[in-house]
Amino acid sequence: MDTEHHTVIIVGGGPAGLPLAVVLGGWHPFYRGSRIFESRYAPIAGYLQQVDDNLLGLDMQALVRGGLKPVDLFRSLHHPRQLFEDLDQVAMEFRRAAPLDTLLISREPVGGLWNNAPKNLLTLSPGQWMEFAFHPLAQYADEIGLDLDVNELIVKTDLIDYYHSIPERFEVAKNIRSSEDVLRIEPQQQGFQLSSRNVVSGEERLYTCKYLVLATGQRGQLRDLQVSGEDLPFVTARYDKPEDFPGERVVVVGGGRSGDWAAVELHDAGKQVYYAMRQDPAVHWQLINDSRQGLPYYKRIADILESRSPRLDTMYHTQVTKIGEGGQVELETPDGARIVEVDHVIKEIGGVADYSILQGFDALQLTPMRDNYRFQVDQVQTHVHNYESLDIANLYIGGYLAAGIGLVVISMHGTTYAISGDILQKEGLL
Ligand SMILES: Cc1cc2nc3c(=O)[nH]c(=O)nc-3n(C[C@H](O)[C@H](O)[C@H](O)COP(=O)(O)OP(=O)(O)OC[C@H]3O[C@@H](n4cnc5c(N)ncnc54)[C@H](O)[C@@H]3O)c2cc1C
Repeated sequence: MDTEHHTVIIVGGGPAGLPLAVVLGGWHPFYRGSRIFESRYAPIAGYLQQVDDNLLGLDMQALVRGGLKPVDLFRSLHHPRQLFEDLDQVAMEFRRAAPLDTLLISREPVGGLWNNAPKNLLTLSPGQWMEFAFHPLAQYADEIGLDLDVNELIVKTDLIDYYHSIPERFEVAKNIRSSEDVLRIEPQQQGFQLSSRNVVSGEERLYTCKYLVLATGQRGQLRDLQVSGEDLPFVTARYDKPEDFPGERVVVVGGGRSGDWAAVELHDAGKQVYYAMRQDPAVHWQLINDSRQGLPYYKRIADILESRSPRLDTMYHTQVTKIGEGGQVELETPDGARIVEVDHVIKEIGGVADYSILQGFDALQLTPMRDNYRFQVDQVQTHVHNYESLDIANLYIGGYLAAGIGLVVISMHGTTYAISGDILQKEGLL
């Protein structure tokens, strides 16, 4: 099998990996200042005014020594305030430079897990928190004539259309290979060797690269129930919309945000929903109460449960033990064994960051991270100035997988510039 070599390979094309393909593809940030940035970050603005150059060339180690993490610097340049008022508030601009030889490989089209999020799902945060600095959502909406309030929660379809538009808009589509699953990453003379398989054709490929960015997200590997019957055709880990689930009765297994979304939407579409979860009701109600003011579907689930709708049968401290061919789902509940007969079983039990594809390297040091939004991920320890692993040279960690990055996309995009700058500096290109 031929081996294809690239200077950089990014694995994972979600909101973490995609902006790296654009910035390494030649779109570099320069300071231009803005009224709000200068008023809120006067000392940094004073420093940057003297740097009339590519911000990727900044001495990030010196910044960290001075108490400023690059991730915070670039976030404040992009979002000097949390509210978006106009395009001029973004305190950096992007100019085109020579691209570095970079390939992005991902299972899904760009946009990561948002490709598989339910059709009507709203973001948890304002739309513009999910955007990239080089293409503000307001600018995108303006260019395509879309009426969008970027400070509101936005619907998944608008967000994924935005992500899908990026490769063509920034002329990096030829550097992106989707429908490809990276099976193994191993040490190799030039740095890294990757083995991949096309998820449609089954074709296998080999790659090598000098620098590797791991941006495979918090759900690289979906969890299993590990019960018999899990592979039956009416059992799925993918919930999109109620119309995909003909029939009357559905078991939703979960208890986090994705399960809550599916249970509410199916209930409101007239289905009989059995909602099974392992957690205590107090834990579920804390999530509901924390979210019912800000998120419409949490107000709705609270209303449904408080009105004791018989069509949302919640079972706490409950585990699925077996799924029968005829649709019988066996459950272990605090009141003993229970069997419900259903047309569909939807698993919304999340996933884990998958580091097992790295084989033959020193073990990565991991730190568990949990937040109030129920996001959970074991993050990799990295150098703060460049997000390179402490344990594996030239392995960069994209997005949430890097320790110390908050679990909201507004706070993780800054890693894009620290990683790109470090690679370009190592290559002597800045
Ligand atoms: C239902 C839901 C709603 C959310 N809402 C919000 C929100 O409103 N605001 C917010 O900030 N965050 C939200 N999140 C968190 C979400 O993780 C981020 O928005 C964002 O998607 C993370 O980006 P990422 O690129 O790190 O990971 P992902 O989006 O998961 O992208 C990683 C990509 O890498 C691919 N991949 C993984 N392993 C391999 C491999 N071995 N080979 C090839 N490709 C691979 C994956 O298939 C995926 O396409 C939400 C998450 C979920 C599940």
